[in-house]
Amino acid sequence: MAGLYIHIPFCKSKCAYCNFFSVVSDKQRADFVEALKKEAVDRKDYLGGEEVRTVYFGGGTPSLLKPAEIGGIIDVLRQHYKITAAAEITLEANPDTVSKDTLKEYKELGINRLSIGIQSFFDDDLQYLSRKHDSKHALQVLEWAKAAGFQEVTLDLIYGIPTLTDEKWCRNLELFFATGINHLSAYALTVEEKTALGQRIAKGLAAPVNEDSVIRQYGILVEMTRQHGFEHYEISNFARPGHYSKHNTIYWKGEKYLGLGPSAHSYDGVSRQWNVAGVKDYCDSYSFEKEKLTLDDRYNEYVMTSLRTCWGCDAEYIRNNFGEKYAEKFEKGVKNHILAGKMFQQDQKYILNDHGMLFADGIAVEVFA
Ligand code: SF4
Repeated sequence: MAGLYIHIPFCKSKCAYCNFFSVVSDKQRADFVEALKKEAVDRKDYLGGEEVRTVYFGGGTPSLLKPAEIGGIIDVLRQHYKITAAAEITLEANPDTVSKDTLKEYKELGINRLSIGIQSFFDDDLQYLSRKHDSKHALQVLEWAKAAGFQEVTLDLIYGIPTLTDEKWCRNLELFFATGINHLSAYALTVEEKTALGQRIAKGLAAPVNEDSVIRQYGILVEMTRQHGFEHYEISNFARPGHYSKHNTIYWKGEKYLGLGPSAHSYDGVSRQWNVAGVKDYCDSYSFEKEKLTLDDRYNEYVMTSLRTCWGCDAEYIRNNFGEKYAEKFEKGVKNHILAGKMFQQDQKYILNDHGMLFADGIAVEVFA
């Protein structure tokens, strides 16, 4: 089983904190859609004929494409890939780019999961992030999604925003639980130097992120999601049982996926490749760079991704797939973290607890090959 990722590189405007590849002009939209369809056909053998159980339209802002354009892409994918009847087909949508009608049309095309970038239900937080929607419209869009018949919906929320007090964060979570939605991705605000927000903070024009608030709000998040029956299955992802993201699970479990579109990455178990990022270059003739992964690379990737999940890192898997030397290094390296109460062991699996997940990346680097 494998997944398909489709990168739609257009955004209405650039959010101040955003470090993803996207462009604000959509002048090349029609060319892009055609180039994407061509790439989908050209690369149809990449997954070796495996069944595709997830399709994910990410970006950028996929909901800037018209339903007919998304439909045309889905038709090409269905013609050239073995997309299973029960495949999870997700579309990322920003509240300011959808209407009641477009949501209905997306649903009719076979999109069965929506990922909505809400970020906060408070307008001052949205302004700090320079998002284009307001909280009233966000709530309206959630109603429309329900009316359109979407049963699988996930929201993105951000904590650690300097304007977000703990009380407001609790309120954001309460508003989320009140929607009845079964999946939440909640991210700590990270500010990269080169982003507009990074520069504003450097010049003293915007308040910086306070690390203590981030840690406190992470604690609130973990506690409140647990009280509401959500499972913390990846560092930033929470779901009621049976509602985990199937597509992201492919990444976290190291399964195969093909990424189409500018800057999209692909992975086939032994190598990783990434497409040219510029939209014009991509439309003229897509190209990619490829890196064959060494055993060290594959071990490091496995450790890095698995430690961030509730499935943890399996020493037996390391032993069987990478060798005794790697398993020894890993087990020796994590011992202190078990003693420090950040991690627990279940048979051969080493799993970070909620507190330990805050240190996932640092712990992974310590046990890297
Ligand atoms: S909508 Fe998403 S991808 Fe586009 S600029 Fe904002 S954060 Fe970045």
